[in-house]
Amino acid sequence: MKNAIIYSIGNELVEGLIVDTNSKFLSVHLKSLGYNVIRIETLPDVLDIIVRRISEGLSEADLLITTGGLGPTEDDLTREAISKVLNKSLVLNEEIANELIERALKYYNKAPESVKKQALVLEGAIVLDNPVGTAPGQLIKHNGKTIVILPGPPVEMIPVFESIKGELKTDDELYTRRIKTIGVPEAVLMDEHKDLLYSNPQITIATMASYERGVEVRLTGSVVLKEEIDGIVEQLTNLLGESVYALDDDSIEDVVYKLLKENNLTISFAESCTGGLLSARFVDIPGVSSVYKGGVVAYSNESKANILRVPKDIIEKHGAVSEECVSYMAKNAREIFDSEFSVSISGIAGPTGGTPQKPVGTVCFAFASKKGVKAFTYNLRGDREMIRKRSALIGFDIARR
Ligand code: ATP
Ligand code: MG
Repeated sequence: MKNAIIYSIGNELVEGLIVDTNSKFLSVHLKSLGYNVIRIETLPDVLDIIVRRISEGLSEADLLITTGGLGPTEDDLTREAISKVLNKSLVLNEEIANELIERALKYYNKAPESVKKQALVLEGAIVLDNPVGTAPGQLIKHNGKTIVILPGPPVEMIPVFESIKGELKTDDELYTRRIKTIGVPEAVLMDEHKDLLYSNPQITIATMASYERGVEVRLTGSVVLKEEIDGIVEQLTNLLGESVYALDDDSIEDVVYKLLKENNLTISFAESCTGGLLSARFVDIPGVSSVYKGGVVAYSNESKANILRVPKDIIEKHGAVSEECVSYMAKNAREIFDSEFSVSISGIAGPTGGTPQKPVGTVCFAFASKKGVKAFTYNLRGDREMIRKRSALIGFDIARR
């Protein structure tokens, strides 16, 4: 297997001012391309240090990837450092330089000499087009090793990296599938299906449980095992039935969106304890306006009564966290927003406010359609954040069923 090292370059990373998400992204993708990532290094904008670390890395890894330090300013030193390490000169690429100057003039009416710095290309390097930002990436091969230089901002780094994935692929390329579930505890799921999951020791099984996404089972193996992995995914999906809400990249909100979209239907939300989480997650999906009519956060009893028209005596008699109350919330939101469906949530997220009858973690949900309203009560564990996130997940789960 080929070894790789990732270098995240920038003082702001070393100083802890920003979180290094680039190496996390790259590491996952390099693994699936068949690389063994032997380490990730965070380096400051100091020429000597960058030169030293990359020289050392060259003796250990087949692929070295840097991100950051490609801008026009004095502290952007990645190109210079690699030029020193490889003893290759930096050549001004006139075409890129003209493009950068043109772009600078267009946006700022001014093109400082320094923008040209970004058009310096290592002798023998392939220029990697940066469709989002200014500084292009570079790929250079040297004594059988590959060095890839990527821009720092993730929105620029990701498309440049994607454009060379085909080039970086190895014979050890991996194939990964993901099964996303809700409602079955991780330990139970793994125990009940261990024979199927562990039928081939060359297929690695990993599980991940989270309050936002439920339990995810990941199967990874060499790309030559693709059919076998797909077969296990199909069998397990059938065995788990309704608890599987999505496969691979889809999230639970994507599933709800697609179901509504395919059937030309709409939804609205009436939220209390989730404070808009359901709406916020849903509107992350581009194009959701075709299925999402809107939502309200009716946090107080008065707003449940005044905005969602929950009868005051229902709240007085049963409380705001009750199946009676959420049923009215969903039914009325459906009318107010003129949507086909509506989901409502009201619960006690804590840490205070619970009672012996309704402890912290009691969350009521309702789903309204033209057929009527169905209500459910869950007793969730965890702190305030966990209860709210889990409630949003359950809200989407109710909507997809
Ligand atoms: P620019 O032309 O924008 O200066 P650059 O290639 O020189 O690009 P840097 O100056 O190193 O990149 O970083 C620019 C910004 O990109 C940082 O301020 C930060 O917001 C983001 N960034 C850089 N590196 C990372 C990283 N490893 N993870 C997440 N964000 C990063
Ligand atoms: Mg910079």
